[in-house]
Amino acid sequence: RLSSHPSGRHFLQIPGPTNVPDRVLRAIDNVTIDHRGPEFGELGKAVLAGMQKVFKTDGHVVIYPASGTGAWEAALVNTLSAGDLVLMAETGHFATLWKKMAMELGLRVEFLSGDWRRGVDASAVEARLKSDADHEIKAVCMVHNETATGVTSDVKGVRAVIDRMEHPALLMVDTISSLGSVDYRHDEWGVDVTVAGSQKGLMLPPGLSFNAISAKALAAAEHASLRRSYWDWRPMIASNATGYFPYTPATNLLYGLHEALEMLFNEGLDTVFARHQRHAEATRLAVHGWGLEILCADPNEYSAALTAVIMPEGHSADAFRKIVLDHFNMSLGQGLTKLKDKIFRIGHLGDINDLSLCATLAGIEMGLALAGVPHRKGGVQAAMDYLTQKAEVRSRPA
Ligand code: PLP
Repeated sequence: RLSSHPSGRHFLQIPGPTNVPDRVLRAIDNVTIDHRGPEFGELGKAVLAGMQKVFKTDGHVVIYPASGTGAWEAALVNTLSAGDLVLMAETGHFATLWKKMAMELGLRVEFLSGDWRRGVDASAVEARLKSDADHEIKAVCMVHNETATGVTSDVKGVRAVIDRMEHPALLMVDTISSLGSVDYRHDEWGVDVTVAGSQKGLMLPPGLSFNAISAKALAAAEHASLRRSYWDWRPMIASNATGYFPYTPATNLLYGLHEALEMLFNEGLDTVFARHQRHAEATRLAVHGWGLEILCADPNEYSAALTAVIMPEGHSADAFRKIVLDHFNMSLGQGLTKLKDKIFRIGHLGDINDLSLCATLAGIEMGLALAGVPHRKGGVQAAMDYLTQKAEVRSRPA
């Protein structure tokens, strides 16, 4: 039975927003300063430089006080003109929403169809670009980590086919649920615009979003004619040169970003990525231990940020999630649009460690029993065995 104030922390194991570390919460809980005063410029410069390191770019990064959807819009309106043709791939709910936005903005979209269990098919992109001799396609847009399905797409592979075709299309990538959890390299992979958000791997509350911008994308902004004002990169970049913003920035979230960046760099990005891979593998061993099926159809595309699990036929994923929430004070991700009630999603991105993962998996195993979902016992044990076998010394806070 539930008391009105459940004891212990809520387990926020949806694939974002993620659990915000105490350090970050304390940093946010600081006096708001004058965003045109002398201190702010230092903060602005520090977080912009930090974000360049996370995106792995020497180019410009802009930070919007907006959710990820705003940064999607910024990517499109800064680079494209009404009627431009854009190639997108149906990897899941979020790719579908981005496509809808593009159409609403007056772009023409070709949507490579998909079954929501696989990533972007680079060979299908290649075939389409090959038939575009007149270079009508102005941009290829893809979601790096489809949060709705737990499938990660090969950005480098898509870049390679664009290069092989010597096609001038811009490459735009949504890394909202991968940045800071899964290896990502804006410059090395030749991405023109990367879109990101604060509430996942960056361990912040929702409310900030980002564009990383290549020189080619910045040049495209000079002749792109889609209407833009608030999202315009140019006044942002001009103000950012001294660490300031053209309007009131989300000062306290930027304190949090500063702290979160320090945490990521102290741990080391490669260590962070390896931690997520290890936790994702432990999660998959648990799911297979329960005898359940993972939505992602290709093991090469398994996401290190989340795992989507298919509910056995005749059982409701939402009823199961409600039982887990009511009994264990844990939120799991729901199935979105066409996957509604058919899957649940386990978020293992952001600030997570072995014990918080084990507790998450224990809540799921107990929930499966309470919900009467047919499964085998021992999923948690399989995860623990793997984590023990691959045990790591975690340094203690100084
Ligand atoms: N793209 C992906 C991959 C996402 O996971 C999300 C949100 O979860 C979005 C876009 C939309 O971002 P927001 O809800 O922050 O506007």
